[in-house]
Amino acid sequence: MPPTATVLVVGAGIYGLTAALELRRRGHAVRLFDPGPLPHPLAASTDISKVIRMEYGADEDYLAAMEVALERWRAWNARRPEPLYHETGVMFVTRQAMAEGAFEGDSYALARRRGHNVERMNAGKLRARYPAWNADRYVDGVFNPAGGYAESGRVVSQIITEAQAAGVTLHERQALAALLETGGRVTGLRTASGETFEGDAVLLAAGSWTPHLLRALGHPAASAFRSTGMPVFHLKPSDPRLFEAERFPVYGADISHTGYYGFPLHPTAGVVKIANHGDGREMPPESKERVVTAEETAQLRTFLADTFPALADAPIVYTRVCLYCDTWDGHFWIAADPERPGLVLSTGGSGHGFKFAPVLGDWGADAVEGRAHAYSHKFRWRPEVRMEKTEEAARFQGEA
Ligand SMILES: Cc1cc2nc3c(=O)[nH]c(=O)nc-3n(C[C@H](O)[C@H](O)[C@H](O)COP(=O)(O)OP(=O)(O)OC[C@H]3O[C@@H](n4cnc5c(N)ncnc54)[C@H](O)[C@@H]3O)c2cc1C
Repeated sequence: MPPTATVLVVGAGIYGLTAALELRRRGHAVRLFDPGPLPHPLAASTDISKVIRMEYGADEDYLAAMEVALERWRAWNARRPEPLYHETGVMFVTRQAMAEGAFEGDSYALARRRGHNVERMNAGKLRARYPAWNADRYVDGVFNPAGGYAESGRVVSQIITEAQAAGVTLHERQALAALLETGGRVTGLRTASGETFEGDAVLLAAGSWTPHLLRALGHPAASAFRSTGMPVFHLKPSDPRLFEAERFPVYGADISHTGYYGFPLHPTAGVVKIANHGDGREMPPESKERVVTAEETAQLRTFLADTFPALADAPIVYTRVCLYCDTWDGHFWIAADPERPGLVLSTGGSGHGFKFAPVLGDWGADAVEGRAHAYSHKFRWRPEVRMEKTEEAARFQGEA
């Protein structure tokens, strides 16, 4: 890569956007393409909230990366017009005693070993501090004051403004349709409207569209990714005070055994959002199946009756099926294509990428510039990897 190159970034979700801004800051000319409108309504990054946690079971890489990212979230809050990261603390409680080898137990042990001020929870503390919870069902867990949630869609809008101010050329309503190649090297792209753009590198950051786009481009790595739909619910509580952040922090409810996690009352939307970090349903982004099913709603009602009695009959005022770009091992894929110089992928969020927004840009720009970083091996180009279960410890993978 020339020291100052022209980089074409495809996809203005959090992976593409942060890389575009960082590449521009490193002095490259950057064009950013997205069919839009932006933030794209079907993009995973576009939402009212995303969990910001450092809990990753025994995986020290993600915890270490989050130690840096959390500092930067706080710094972003300090220099931005409005704080979009809310440090409510995060709590992961269990229906059995926490065990070594399980998400909560390992997260607690690792956080303590790295000197974090985490607290062990129990039914008594839950009952006393967080009255919305059915403390008869949850007996152990960890509370971490560091962490909370970010208003992801608004973060995306904010970074779009900063990227344009930094000189990134935004091609909204322009989708990549084909790659231009000369002598086995990717030298640019053609858009769906037939326009062509030349560049020293193309960074594909198309989120859950990735497997479908790669298939359309005839790229063999398409099968390394799956687009998986997850149900999201917004509920209107009859007693909103019970769900305000100081009484209801971001949580995982025995998440690796139920998949359920959620947020306090949203400050502006006035709803309580709950979603499921489970197996989900595989589907393409524009699928007709992209609606929450009666079965998913019934499962939520069963969970609510068991865990949050005050929400058991609360009206569901909005639902959405949001799509993960899943890799087989559940780790991100931020790497250059060894077979096609000039092509780089930054994707594979696997349902847990947004919280790394403050460091994603570095990883994407490093991959474009051919620089290694502490997690290059974890996010490497790895089409050979096939796994039954992902390695992301919080993910619920199995029968309820
Ligand atoms: C239900 C759900 C809950 C989640 N919760 C959390 C959470 O609590 N915490 C967390 O850290 N992470 C969470 N995640 C994961 C996180 O949202 C994603 O990892 C992250 O937002 C992915 O960003 P992205 O840029 O890869 O994709 P996206 O945000 O989906 O953006 C991809 C962009 O690519 C564009 N694109 C597609 N095709 C083309 C083309 N041909 N040409 C140009 N542009 C194109 C699209 O228009 C889109 O704007 C969740 C995800 C989901 C689905």
